[in-house]
Amino acid sequence: MVNDIQNKIIIIGGGLIGELLHLMLKSKGFEINHFAKALKIKNRTFALSPSSVDWLRSLGFPSSFFEALSEIKSMKIFDSSIKNSVTLDAEDVHKPALAYMVNEKDFNVAIKKTFNNEKNFKKLSTDFEIKTEQEQVILKFHNEEHKASIIIACDGANSMVREKIAINPLKHDFKQTALSFELKVKSEIQKQAFQFFLKESILAVLPIRKGLVSIVWSCDYQFFEKLNNLDDKSIENELNLIIGNYYKDIKIASKKEYFPLFMNSVESIFKDRVLLVGDAAHFIHPMAGQGLNLGIRDIIFLEKNIDKKDYMDIGLKGFLRKYERVRKEDVSQMGFLTFGLNWIFSKKSTIVIGMIEKGMSMLNKSKFLKQQLIKKAI
Ligand SMILES: Cc1cc2nc3c(=O)[nH]c(=O)nc-3n(C[C@H](O)[C@H](O)[C@H](O)COP(=O)(O)OP(=O)(O)OC[C@H]3O[C@@H](n4cnc5c(N)ncnc54)[C@H](O)[C@@H]3O)c2cc1C
Repeated sequence: MVNDIQNKIIIIGGGLIGELLHLMLKSKGFEINHFAKALKIKNRTFALSPSSVDWLRSLGFPSSFFEALSEIKSMKIFDSSIKNSVTLDAEDVHKPALAYMVNEKDFNVAIKKTFNNEKNFKKLSTDFEIKTEQEQVILKFHNEEHKASIIIACDGANSMVREKIAINPLKHDFKQTALSFELKVKSEIQKQAFQFFLKESILAVLPIRKGLVSIVWSCDYQFFEKLNNLDDKSIENELNLIIGNYYKDIKIASKKEYFPLFMNSVESIFKDRVLLVGDAAHFIHPMAGQGLNLGIRDIIFLEKNIDKKDYMDIGLKGFLRKYERVRKEDVSQMGFLTFGLNWIFSKKSTIVIGMIEKGMSMLNKSKFLKQQLIKKAI
């Protein structure tokens, strides 16, 4: 028999992962106490993997969300010479798409509809304490306290909960800043994404709809300084040098957002009755568009383990250890892949550049290798 406390879960953090986790746990009958800061929706566009989209369907997302998704059917990857390329195609793995683009605002509208406007967040003051006892965990403020079987922290890459419970992440600073914005373009190219691994930056061009693409430009500090001092017209000229063969009349069409880039990994994703999920548990380079997908997979695997119904209390070590074990490989592989690609492509030695050229040519000729790469990404 599950007792009252065993059915109670505290979630901290109201980003996309916190909200999706809330929806999933609510659907399993848990009583959720959700603490979040006021939501600041940015104009971000995410590439969702097909498995994330399938899961959102199973969560009961409205059909309008899926109708608004735009498909990426292929991706062309270039090295710094912009001469050698590899094309990854959804058809190579017999799938309708490699990924689906979604705007953060549409995502939030869909979440709201799925909640039936019933979600109820409490504001979290920064002044809180977490106390673990044998059978429960307590979130303590100076004038009140909340008890639950587990606290799940989804409070992002700079997680305050993680700091409070003294899980110290291993941090790698990429010494890069990502610049993200939308670009109006003239082109017949549709449903194709581009990724340019350049000497001073990594440029991702992701299709949103005909005539509109999303740019994620991860720049080393020096190049970022240069871009940051340019007006929009001059940035458009810089872009034209890279993507001018594919897009004409390019015009910056949104506010530019900036993100410092680093990688966080933790030895253990839980301590006592506190679990880290999403960016609080792992933060990776955005080059592969996988951070949110990794967080969604955290929730999918939590759901799978909950559905096994072989536990009494999800705050107990046994349950959390099993979950940690199944997540470890996926998270470390994705971290390793993005770290490794950034490392290789940022090398400027002629030997490494020659190896990249050979490697890309081999990859482009091997359907099997491409299939493996696509399968991992989607
Ligand atoms: C430029 C860029 C492009 C990206 N593109 C993609 C992509 O195409 N596809 C993809 O899968 N991923 C992408 N990502 C990664 C993705 O944005 C993140 O992985 C995802 O947003 C993480 O969600 P989250 O809810 O875990 O964290 P966050 O979005 O950081 O949310 C954390 C929430 O916790 C709240 N919070 C923080 N502290 C507290 C506190 N003390 N109390 C209460 N609340 C708190 C914050 O206000 C916030 O609402 C990209 C990232 C970047 C930087």
